[in-house]
Amino acid sequence: MTESSNPGQLIDRFGRTVDYLRISITDRCDFRCLYCMEEEMTFLPRAQILTLEEIHTLAKAFAELGVKKIRVTGGEPLVRKGALGLLENLGRIESLNELVITTNGSQLETMAPALKAAGVKRINISLDTLDADKFKTITRTGDLHQVLKGIRAAQSAGFERIKINTVVLKDRNHQEVNDLVQFAVDHGIDISFIEEMPLGIVSRHNRSLAYYSSDLIKKDLEPNFSLIAIDEKTGGPSNYFKVVGTQTRVGFISPHSENFCGSCNRVRLTVEGRLLLCLGNEHSVDLKRVLRANPGNMAILKQAIIEAMLIKPEKHEFNIHERPVILRYMNMTGG
Ligand code: SAM
Ligand code: SF4
Repeated sequence: MTESSNPGQLIDRFGRTVDYLRISITDRCDFRCLYCMEEEMTFLPRAQILTLEEIHTLAKAFAELGVKKIRVTGGEPLVRKGALGLLENLGRIESLNELVITTNGSQLETMAPALKAAGVKRINISLDTLDADKFKTITRTGDLHQVLKGIRAAQSAGFERIKINTVVLKDRNHQEVNDLVQFAVDHGIDISFIEEMPLGIVSRHNRSLAYYSSDLIKKDLEPNFSLIAIDEKTGGPSNYFKVVGTQTRVGFISPHSENFCGSCNRVRLTVEGRLLLCLGNEHSVDLKRVLRANPGNMAILKQAIIEAMLIKPEKHEFNIHERPVILRYMNMTGG
């Protein structure tokens, strides 16, 4: 731990300690997943986004305030120029226990070894289907085989843990949950099923009709897999189960069917430098403004972060059956 570390200063009004920061390092992406973005997107101009140096400074401030885990995400984090250098710098922050990333896998075939060398310990790779045509339909621009090659490259690189993230959509990929668990078992990796969240308004996709609950997924898996609940508390929204007789864990992220806010330990930094205190609320603080108004002043920056904890809401306000009240998309949010 560094001398300037001052752990445990990030405590909200409900007594929850924040020790996990997710950073969206770009809003851009090479895919256009239909639940995440529109096909035609306007991305942020460069002047509006944090530089890589600013992201590094913010990460250091959070680490000095007791953050132990950072997840780098996006948009697609690995399409941002300089992402690897940033990860190397983050990997050098001594007081961090964990540096992890979430990626769509498109760049992993070439980047996996360098990510491992940069200090990335665990990696989440999104994979909604094993059918190449469906993959193209859901991601609009993605190539399943490229992602599968990326998963293989990540396995060869030797990360501590690789997890597949699958957003389950009724009648699009819900029929594949057994095949996806079998894929995870065959590859000795984990998988989490995610209920879709109403972030941003997406056309040509009805979130209410596509809703498929974690309970339904569990029922679908029952005939083929024995799942035993494991007490793996990550402070996160996932409930984990072990597939009996295998190395694989299956997680369920159920914002609608279960409320996971009571144990929330995380905040999110958008690429615009907005600190989001909750995935499902708009409460935020403009840290880019603080940073740019006070160059080099870590004390003011840290004070702004500490004060931000006072507006962390108690729980999210998602309702899949209503028009979204959260107008930012997941790529802005840092899923
Ligand atoms: N591009 C990377 C990827 O796809 O893994 C990282 C960013 S992406 C926003 C992070 C995760 O959020 C992915 O697993 C994606 O499937 C998920 N996601 C995106 N939009 C979502 C939504 N509306 N509801 C639930 N999960 C969503
Ligand atoms: Fe890109 Fe990830 Fe959003 Fe898909 S889910 S469009 S890969 S940011």
